[in-house]
Amino acid sequence: MNLDITLSSLQDKGHRITKVRKEVVKIFSENTTPLSANQVEEKMLQVCLSVNKATIYRELQFLLANGYLVEVYLRPNEVSYESSELKHHHHLVCSTCGAIDNVTNCLASELEDDVFKKRGFRIKQHTLEFYGTCAECARKTT
Ligand SMILES: [Zn+2]
Ligand SMILES: [Zn+2]
Ligand SMILES: [Zn+2]
Repeated sequence: MNLDITLSSLQDKGHRITKVRKEVVKIFSENTTPLSANQVEEKMLQVCLSVNKATIYRELQFLLANGYLVEVYLRPNEVSYESSELKHHHHLVCSTCGAIDNVTNCLASELEDDVFKKRGFRIKQHTLEFYGTCAECARKTT
């Protein structure tokens, strides 16, 4: 998500650009991995913007409803968000430190074709996430 393009797109649709809205869009334009509401709050605090959690939730819901963000479920009971403009990808989630990385090559399209040929089921989308130990955590434990 590009900061300037997104802000002008919001303005074109008649939405106000509040300080919080601008900062949330900025955070997602600078991060290509999913962020939870808590992580968005932490990043705002880093730039000395203290925002009520309810306001952050409302802003995330607004950007979600308007198609700028998508929801990502990586852990039970926790929803994260990422830009809807990112190319199709999967996530590598480190179970030790929580770091997330993206994998952009998808091997599932072949499986989708196969499922359609054999069962007539048309797959519209899929999610596939990987859980394990990142290189840094693996180094620390050996
Ligand atoms: Zn992602
Ligand atoms: Zn790790
Ligand atoms: Zn895929």
